[in-house]
Amino acid sequence: MGTCKYCRENAGLFHSVHADCEKKHAEGLEAITAEIAKSFSEGTDPGTMDAGMAKLKKNSFIDEGQFTECVLAAFDRAVDNVLQDSILTRDEEEKLNQLRDHFQIDKALLESRDSWQKLVKAAVLRDISEGNISGSRLKIEGTVPFLLQKGETLIWAFNHVGGYEQRTRTVYEGRSSGFSVRIVKGVYYRTGAFRGNPVQVNEMSPIGTGLLGVTNKNIYFASESKSLRIPLAKIITLIPYEDGIGIQKDGQTAKPVTFKDLDGWFIYNLVTALAQM
Ligand SMILES: [Zn+2]
Repeated sequence: MGTCKYCRENAGLFHSVHADCEKKHAEGLEAITAEIAKSFSEGTDPGTMDAGMAKLKKNSFIDEGQFTECVLAAFDRAVDNVLQDSILTRDEEEKLNQLRDHFQIDKALLESRDSWQKLVKAAVLRDISEGNISGSRLKIEGTVPFLLQKGETLIWAFNHVGGYEQRTRTVYEGRSSGFSVRIVKGVYYRTGAFRGNPVQVNEMSPIGTGLLGVTNKNIYFASESKSLRIPLAKIITLIPYEDGIGIQKDGQTAKPVTFKDLDGWFIYNLVTALAQM
């Protein structure tokens, strides 16, 4: 006879769970996640959920590890919702911190999540929109291969970025995927605008994989085969992709470059915001 892994009672011959217990468990996981995400969007104090959460955990056979997963999933949803519609406000950032503190989410665990990375990036964009270009949210390990100019601050760096140069300008302009955007003041692209439009690189010449740095004055790229510096003031068009960005510089002979394997939403908004300063 088998023992139900949820309620620990007899599950009958050849069975290791009660279908009912399994259903309760799955519903409980979703209920916890949904409730925390809802509390965030409605701005209620996370403490008011505690009793309900304890009950759900008990009735749905949810252990501490599973509960933490639910809290993290709720955090992901909350961040996603916040960044869907607009820039991150201070109030929203504060509320997310409150959620983290209330459920005592482990710092390292949280920082390894995509949603946390997004949150930090969103805060960088807000800093810039407020004229703060200290670069203080960037954590760099090791040395940076860029020679910065006087008064230049490294604001963000992307690792393992693939660089590509367009072979001819005609090919570039004839491409149908992506949409090119002239830099316009005050335009912020929502995260949703970048879904499902990955960079196609088959018609471009690779210029290596390396580090891409964005400062308040330039974009730098350094790979084993090529080093580039693109002044922000010379950029006339940006082409946002979900996983990259295309850049057209001013000048007849300037070849368009595309960088792949980086967060398109973030670099697009970052460069746009900096170019307008
Ligand atoms: Zn059971």
